[in-house]
Amino acid sequence: MQQTSSRHFEKAVFLDRDGVINHDPGDYTTSLNEFEILPGTIEILKKWFDEGYGLIVITNQGGIDRDLYTEDTVIAMHQYLQGMCNLQGFAIDAFYYCVHHPLKTGNCLCRKPGSLMVEKALHKFNLMPQNCVMIGDRERDVQAAEGAGVRGIQIELNTGLGRVNI
Ligand SMILES: [Mg+2]
Repeated sequence: MQQTSSRHFEKAVFLDRDGVINHDPGDYTTSLNEFEILPGTIEILKKWFDEGYGLIVITNQGGIDRDLYTEDTVIAMHQYLQGMCNLQGFAIDAFYYCVHHPLKTGNCLCRKPGSLMVEKALHKFNLMPQNCVMIGDRERDVQAAEGAGVRGIQIELNTGLGRVNI
């Protein structure tokens, strides 16, 4: 987990990363060069931030386990995203990522559709699940949310957050 703020909030938006925040090329996003933020994303994140929502990224990064890229690369992507947010005067509050892949580590509890990352964030930030929402582009994102009692919204891959009503 990369925690990036100590701001207090009582409601939060949990966000899948690839295909929701940044363009998902259909496989893994393996380098900072490939990390392309979808149009309108920073603007809507700022709107939610200004409305008092915590912003928490919840992402499977099994490519680390598969040696397709390193954890440092993932952290660099998050720092880049954070920098773009900071330029607009706000910040993402935390990034949770699962480094495991079933073919390498076997089953873990954190990889979505598992709910552990969502549960950890709820606990860490002392949030009530009913005050939160999770946005993802896959069924497993919704399952991870619902497993922790959080409402899940599934959007279409790479369409961006611009038209999502939370
Ligand atoms: Mg995704």
